Amino acid sequence: MAVSPLISRSPSATASSSNAAMKLKKVATQSSLNGPEIAPSPLSMQNSDRELTEQLNDDVRHKYIKDKKLGEGTYAVVFLGHLRSEPSSFVAIKKIKVNAEYKDGLSMDAIREVKYLQELAHPNIIALHDVFSSKDKNLSLVLEYLPLGDLEMLIKDANIHYGVADIKAWMGMLTRGVWFCHENFVLHRDIKPNNLLIASDGEVKLADFGLARSFADPYLNMTHQVITRWYRPPELLYGARQYSGVVDVWSIGMVFAELILRVPFVAGSSDLDQISKICEAFGTPTEANWPGVTKLPNYLAPDNNHMVPLQGREFFLRQFPTVGAVGADLLMSMCALDPRKRSSACQILQHGWWLTEPKPTNKENLPRKSGGTKKMGDDLTRRGGEVDDTPFKNAARQLDFNAMR
Ligand code: AMP
Repeated sequence: MAVSPLISRSPSATASSSNAAMKLKKVATQSSLNGPEIAPSPLSMQNSDRELTEQLNDDVRHKYIKDKKLGEGTYAVVFLGHLRSEPSSFVAIKKIKVNAEYKDGLSMDAIREVKYLQELAHPNIIALHDVFSSKDKNLSLVLEYLPLGDLEMLIKDANIHYGVADIKAWMGMLTRGVWFCHENFVLHRDIKPNNLLIASDGEVKLADFGLARSFADPYLNMTHQVITRWYRPPELLYGARQYSGVVDVWSIGMVFAELILRVPFVAGSSDLDQISKICEAFGTPTEANWPGVTKLPNYLAPDNNHMVPLQGREFFLRQFPTVGAVGADLLMSMCALDPRKRSSACQILQHGWWLTEPKPTNKENLPRKSGGTKKMGDDLTRRGGEVDDTPFKNAARQLDFNAMR
């Protein structure tokens, strides 16, 4: 799949595109002044197209100055950067690692990230300002700089205290971002606290679209090996190849539970362990409570001696009392085992919980990572011991995506 390296959303990017357009105009004018019109040969047209593309690419690249390294993911290194013309305008420059294993040296993750971020512009989705390639042929994505870390950092930091109003604000921002993806027929497929980055004004932004895909055709087969295990819904663990936006809703539910408990709610050590932990927590899937489940490719018949009845409202209220009966009801609607009974992102946004007290905290007043200003809310203390985050980080990435669909 060819990726155009020229995407511009920032105002200054428009200026550089118009520079290039002027250059194009100049080339055209010069050629018409240079005597009789001779149709250019296809080869010379190709050459001038390439020159123009290179010129446009250089213009975009020169707009930015790369600073220190911010972090490193599986397929990219992220740097802080700023606009050459405006040093106080920061950006994050994500330099994609070139890997000979991949077609054209580019991983599918990188191609997906560019493809979907190009299409999605929303306050709760990280903005892609530009894309350019460097002299060494590496592709760089110029992204909105989000300096306040991510939700995982907040959840794990014992020095940060937060309450229900804060959770409501974060959950609202997350759900609005996911709703927008689904409205545009894009599945994110890797929602987890670590992929929810925080802007300087406290806005939560959905990032890392490396596993995203479009789902306009409900009958198209897709891979079930997506979504980091602890956030993966039971239908994918059972190998479903046809699924919809509610796979992301399950992940939203897991993030909701984790924000409340401050530890991941269902943390399996393998795919098998994950499904058995889901059954222990929410109930054993059966044909009665989930028609068709036994036909899923990786379905495993449960041990008749260990059948757990489907959990109802009381269970959710008992496990998550801090969010109240209405909040527990909302969480339950995200955790329905049968995907057909699970709420959509749109239904979540229409739920009564958003209107109950307390109102969501204003984003500017939300707790921030240590080093920033902290705010005392209703204290939700950390539960249990240390979380082993080895399988937590990028677990979905460790799967084999050779047959990625
Ligand atoms: P990723 O490859 O997207 O997982 O990014 C690796 C690391 O770079 C993240 O864990 C963040 O610490 C940092 N990072 C990524 N994107 C941004 C951004 N837009 N703003 C600030 N830091 C970022």
